[in-house]
Amino acid sequence: NVSSHDLKVSDHKHHLHPFTDHGALGVDERRVISRADGVWIWDSEGNRMLDGMAGLWCVNVGHGRQEIVEAVRAQMSELSYYNTFFKTTHPPVIELSEMIAEIAPEHMNMVFYGGSGSDANDTVFRLVRYYWDLMGKPDKKMILSRHNAYHGSTVAGASLGGMGGMHGQGNLPVPGIHHIAQPYWFGEGMQTGMSEDEFGLWAARELERAIDEIGEDKIAAFIAEPIQGAGGVIIPPATYWPEVARILKQRDILFVSDEVICGFGRTGEWFGADTYGLKPDLMSIAKGLTSGYLPMGGVIVSDKIADVLHEKGGEFYHGYTYSGHPAACAAAIANLAIMKRENLVERVRDQIGPYFRKKWLELGDHPMVGEARMKGLVGALELVPDKADLSKRFGDVGKVGTIARDHSFNSGLVMRAVRDSLIISPPLVITEEETDQLVASARQALDLAWADVRKQG
Ligand code: PLP
Repeated sequence: NVSSHDLKVSDHKHHLHPFTDHGALGVDERRVISRADGVWIWDSEGNRMLDGMAGLWCVNVGHGRQEIVEAVRAQMSELSYYNTFFKTTHPPVIELSEMIAEIAPEHMNMVFYGGSGSDANDTVFRLVRYYWDLMGKPDKKMILSRHNAYHGSTVAGASLGGMGGMHGQGNLPVPGIHHIAQPYWFGEGMQTGMSEDEFGLWAARELERAIDEIGEDKIAAFIAEPIQGAGGVIIPPATYWPEVARILKQRDILFVSDEVICGFGRTGEWFGADTYGLKPDLMSIAKGLTSGYLPMGGVIVSDKIADVLHEKGGEFYHGYTYSGHPAACAAAIANLAIMKRENLVERVRDQIGPYFRKKWLELGDHPMVGEARMKGLVGALELVPDKADLSKRFGDVGKVGTIARDHSFNSGLVMRAVRDSLIISPPLVITEEETDQLVASARQALDLAWADVRKQG
């Protein structure tokens, strides 16, 4: 029976946290999350909070699903580990691959597995270049990505990503990656004098301009999240994706949809690419694949690429010890079975998604909210100092977002701050009643943060 304080002291001494400023994190400031059920989590002091982030955008079927626990237990007693290198395979990885092929777009039927979204994008980084080698076009090496994208924390993932802070550490990006504009209307478009639709077209045509400048014969692929998640839930203007699709159709480069957040129902279809009518050559997946019950990621491969791998032959020198881990496969199979049985994707598209969106957009009337946006079950609130002039921003970027996020935690709701916006991405099983509670807590957090802002002038 270790006390909550003792746990925190030990954590402080021995645990190096990801994405954490250890200089600023006081011992007792940390929260020890000790239990979870449905959309709720409890900390070691017994406080209950609504998990508005589904963990890290991943617990799509909600916490505490015994069906997944049982499936993993059963798999582990039958075959807890075997690898999938060379010629070996096993029943759960075969069953899972078939399930994924069934829900993926029709032209995508094979899956390469890893342990996370980051290593999925490492696979992408190597596979797109290998594909062009096989096609006899070894000069096609450059990968296009976007500013403010998040594609993971490995060297390739952070390089493909477009986050300045991450590039600053570790001398990234590695060579061979070129970043173009993001379709961020509230953050970057509004200030240009263009309409939202014009800005969407402009941002899409940045892709065309980059291809013309660099040369199509030098470019392997373009990678993008259908909705940029960690960058701040950037829902593109309606004109953006159709124009990108038009450009991609005319150009001989691969398109990679990073579905690590958007996949598995988050945007109201199985994949974000379905939501926006895109036809990817590769899709990176992770998170919602297992709802976070066990670590697993991968890359869904189109027939176009799979056919070349089959026809040309030769070994792709790439794989992970835990590629297709049987226990993770069992978790994914049980997770997808729940999603199908409970019609969670349709639920997001037709029922709870529209309900949540309506309630969430009502927060747009708050004096500190410059924009409320939501697609499927992922959304954001842009916080501004003066609603009458939406071009104005808070001076110390990120400070007010953090204050509002902390108030939200204390009001019993986990949201995330990205700069001065608040992000929401709840489990797909959230009910209407829980949605009402969530929105009430969010409003309370906004009121408290707004009072702080006014106090400080
Ligand atoms: N790609 C996207 C779009 C993500 O949002 C993330 C994680 O948030 C990743 C890749 C990396 O996934 P992981 O944290 O599982 O390595």
